[in-house]
Parts: sequence; C-alpha cells; structure tokens
Amino acid sequence: MLATKVIMEQGIHVEGINFFTGFCVEGHTHAIRSKDRNRPKRNNALWVAEQLGIKLHIVDVIEEYKDVLLNPKHGYGQNMNPCLDCKGFMVRKAYEWIREHGFDFIITGEVIGQRPMSQRKDTMPVVARESGAGDLLLRPLCAKHLPPTLPEREGWVDREKLYDFSGRTRKPQMALAEQFGFKDWATPAGGCCFLTDKAYSDKLVDMWQHRSSRDYTLDDIMLLKVGRHLRPRPHFKLIVARDEGEGKFLEGYRRQFTSLKTVSHGGPLVLIDGDVTDEDIELAARIAARYGQGRSADAVELEVTPPGGEPRRLTVAPLHPNDIDPAWHV
Ligand code: SF4
Repeated sequence: MLATKVIMEQGIHVEGINFFTGFCVEGHTHAIRSKDRNRPKRNNALWVAEQLGIKLHIVDVIEEYKDVLLNPKHGYGQNMNPCLDCKGFMVRKAYEWIREHGFDFIITGEVIGQRPMSQRKDTMPVVARESGAGDLLLRPLCAKHLPPTLPEREGWVDREKLYDFSGRTRKPQMALAEQFGFKDWATPAGGCCFLTDKAYSDKLVDMWQHRSSRDYTLDDIMLLKVGRHLRPRPHFKLIVARDEGEGKFLEGYRRQFTSLKTVSHGGPLVLIDGDVTDEDIELAARIAARYGQGRSADAVELEVTPPGGEPRRLTVAPLHPNDIDPAWHV
C-alpha cells in the first residue's frame, strides 16, 4: 500500500498484480473455520486495491509455481517457504506482464533487512537479476539504499521523493501510513503464505513422503489447510473436521475419498486419504469415533461411504485415548 501510494503521489498510474499460488493464507481459509467467524472475510489484495483505488489483476500461477516449490535454487526458509525463488518468480511474471500490457516498470513494497531470506542487501539484487527485470524493478520504500534504477535515472520517478527505510523496525512505515491516512493494513510482517507455517509444512512433507511423487493438485494443498491430520498407518491418513465449518468444507470431497460419519452420536466428518482395506477402515472408524460425542460409549455406529459409492453401516468400539499414538498426528 505504501509503495504504491508513494508512486501514485508522483502522478504515476499504477495497477496491482496478485499471484495466486494455492498456498495463500487469503481467500477461503478464514471463511472455513468456525473459530475465525469474526475475522473479516476479505481477500486482502482486492481490499488493498480498493483502498488505493487501483485496478487489480489476479493471476493464477498454481501450475508454474510447482517448480518453484519443488526445486528452489536458493533453498527453503525456516519451513517449506522458498522465499527467494518465489520472489524472483513473481517479479519475473510481473516483468512478462508489464511487457505484454505496455507498462514501464515494476514496484514492490520490499524493504532492505526486513525479512531474513529475501529482503537482505545481498539478496535483493538476486531477485532483480534472476527475474530478468533488472533495473526496471524499483523498491520505493528503500530505493535510497539501492543504486538508481532506470525509472529514477530517466526521471520518470523523482528519486528524492523515495524512501530509505531499512531493517526490521516498522515504525517509519507506520508513520508514513498515518501520513497517508491508512488506518488498517494486511499482514505487515509478511509470511502471507502457508509455506511459512511449520504445521502446514510438516503436513506437506508427510504427504510427499507417503506418495511416490512430490506432485500435488490444488485440492491436495487446500486439504492440508483443513482439519486434524492423523496417519495411523503409512499408506493412509485421516482428515478429521475440527468444527462445523471444516465439516461443511470436507463434505465437498466425499466423492473423492472414503468418508466416515458417526450416526449413533454426534461426530465430525472424517475423510480417509489412501487405499484402504476393511481392516484399515475399521481402525479409521475407531479413531473417528474417538473424536465424536460417543467417545466414552461401548459402541458407536458409523456410516462408511466409498468415493462416489453407497454408504454402509459399521459399529465399532471407540479407540482408547492411550491407543492413539502421538506420532500419528501429522
Ligand atoms: S512467504 Fe510465501 S508467498 Fe511470500 S515470498 Fe515467501 S514463499 Fe513466497
């Protein structure tokens, strides 16, 4: 918001690009969980564009992004976040976009020293170089710490009116936000994607380890955001809805997975991911029963529905909590 406003204040036309990788925290995720019901259900990119009065282009990069995530040249951050490769990729896509649409240069809101991996003095030139954008990439908030870019040298942008922010402090940004009259903003600390989240990254790695390939679909990565994941056996895992909102979301996947629903008591919807035998289904049902209201009952009746098939009934004894191996939790 700040970088855009700084450039718009110089009378320059700016449009926004939001890349959708599938891992974004934005969008539907907050809308699923009942506990997040009070959070604003907004797509922050759209909201920001509206605040700024600019056009926003949402670009789906799910397929192309796979290579960034699976083969990051610069490696991963603390979790499965390939931030440096990711930035290079997004700026490259933006560079392709401006050439196609007749725009002159690219701006980002990056600040030197703000993030440990992708916003260091030595890594910021890497993004400019590897993206191909070179000196068409301007960072208005810390431009004064960087060599003048083409837009500055050509006088399209007045370098004197750009900023010299650096480091992890956000005080100067807050002050500038106040000056511009911004009262609300989104994720000032970055970490806008699930790949920076340890629990999510663990589930992603678990999924890859138990499949013969590291490929993934949008459904795969969406499902990793939802439910409690337990892997009682290497060849299958359970996704247990944690609340009503997640249960409703998982309903949409019953055609793709074997699902379990307790019928004698209240209980969560559970999906089984993997090829399972009757014995596996019985174990899954006992675990599912453990997470329902019949957890202390002697017997719980469930409905087992194969993907796209007819349901059948199964009665099991809920698994005792001591029999749930903590290592099953993904
Ligand atoms: S936090 Fe996620 S979206 Fe942002 S740069 Fe890192 S990997 Fe890319």
